[in-house]
Amino acid sequence: MNPRANPLARRLALVILTIALLPALACNRAKPKLPAPPISIVLLSLDTLRSDHLGCYGYARPTSPRLDALAKESVLFEHARTPVPWTTPAHMTMLTSLEPDVHKVTHTALAEVRFTGPERLRDVGYATGGFVNATALDHRFGFTRGFDAYEYTERKSGAAAVNQKALDWLTSVTAKDPAKPFFLFVHYYVVHNPYDPPPEFRAPFVKEYRPEDVTRTEIGPYHGPVSYGEAERRSMIDLYDGGVRYGDDAAGALLDGLARLGVLDRTAFFVTSDHGEGFGEHGLYNHGNSLYEELLRVPLIVRLPGRVGAGARVSTPVSHVDLLPTFFDLAGIPQEAGLMGQSLAPAFARGTLADATVWADGTGSQALIEGRWKVIVNGEGRAARIPGWKSPGPVELYDLGADPTEQHNLAAAQPEQARQLADRVAAIQRDHRLLAKAVATSHAELPDDVRERLKSLGYLE
Ligand SMILES: [Zn+2]
Repeated sequence: MNPRANPLARRLALVILTIALLPALACNRAKPKLPAPPISIVLLSLDTLRSDHLGCYGYARPTSPRLDALAKESVLFEHARTPVPWTTPAHMTMLTSLEPDVHKVTHTALAEVRFTGPERLRDVGYATGGFVNATALDHRFGFTRGFDAYEYTERKSGAAAVNQKALDWLTSVTAKDPAKPFFLFVHYYVVHNPYDPPPEFRAPFVKEYRPEDVTRTEIGPYHGPVSYGEAERRSMIDLYDGGVRYGDDAAGALLDGLARLGVLDRTAFFVTSDHGEGFGEHGLYNHGNSLYEELLRVPLIVRLPGRVGAGARVSTPVSHVDLLPTFFDLAGIPQEAGLMGQSLAPAFARGTLADATVWADGTGSQALIEGRWKVIVNGEGRAARIPGWKSPGPVELYDLGADPTEQHNLAAAQPEQARQLADRVAAIQRDHRLLAKAVATSHAELPDDVRERLKSLGYLE
């Protein structure tokens, strides 16, 4: 039969052709591409948010309806970690791609490092705004570097006040130039202790509200081991979960605000946290006092323009050092020497990344995660910092594949593996000391042997 001679056959042929093309069309729809740089960027940090207390990371309680919905439109990193479980240095790593023992921002200002992410982004034409909810991120630490606008909001004013300032700033930016790319850093402190969320957010989790339960959550980071009873521990978690729901609601309101301004769909929206929180898993509460997984594991959810990669879950371990290289890719800034992470952009297209080790430091200990293995090297100063804390030994070794909550220290059973990883930690610390000098001084002042060593490590060109 000749289709040209028969209208019915022609229509039938068209239907068959359309059906044949459907998978290709569907494929095109399922794999949109990122627009060309520069792409606007929002970095939202919910301070103290453990990833395993979000539904999209497997939590059973209804803490995160907005972030769970966001995750369906986003690329989610299942194994994201902070390099230091403490607010100030963790955020500085997000903005510099320097490990905490390289930027060294603890109680001292960021006076000397060569550049920060916001500076580089502003150099290429981004409007830059930061709106934070804790004094740990104020100008004394150098956080204002590179920001056109940077504003601190008191915790008691609530997350809505932070959102309002951020959205007011963005409204003024887009009113002047709707096409101008922007970098917006937003930080909420509402999950952080003391856990005391407003009644509407705690209601799904707290049966009976007792002020003494809130007071208990004011426990400081360096309290030493505490053995609360299960009811006390449970009440802390109930209140904490209410705070997570509060943060989730605020994140949703920020997303709604971006959508109202008409910028959401041309923006890469990153949600993360600076560290997790301990609930006695290793005898400790609060954060800043260990390098166990309850403090290192944080969410990382990235909603991209066109919802590129929507629903993808990336299992490669990543860290806050990887954020700025990713921002550089989205901004069209060439990667440069001194960035200590890798761009996450390849994962947006194909859902996988080159394997990398993850480093953590900052509590008088260092940790290295390589594949399924994690080593923690406890420095001599660690025990002094936490009264009553009994060191499990100079080196701890965990098989995270078999023991993800680090209950079985294998250092004595597998001494060779422990020694090899501890040696790697010592070598990395030496490299970081060299790099700290490089970022704190002009290169010309570095001794030749230091320059050569840094070049061989790829930190200098
Ligand atoms: Zn924090």
